[in-house]
Amino acid sequence: MAEHFTRATESTLKWCGRCHRHTKHAVSDGREGRCLEHDAPRETRKQQQAREKRERESREPKLF
Ligand SMILES: [Zn+2]
Repeated sequence: MAEHFTRATESTLKWCGRCHRHTKHAVSDGREGRCLEHDAPRETRKQQQAREKRERESREPKLF
């Protein structure tokens, strides 16, 4: 059965290759958008960089 999106639809469950499960994806004017679960849309570039820095540091123990 084909999936149809109405303008009222704001998100849909869709397989996400990054989350490896069905997650909510944004829908805008019938177009499927990004996964809402692995990458918070409200996260600013600065917050994203800070999170990536934390993740890097947690993987690589400090030498000093
Ligand atoms: Zn995802």
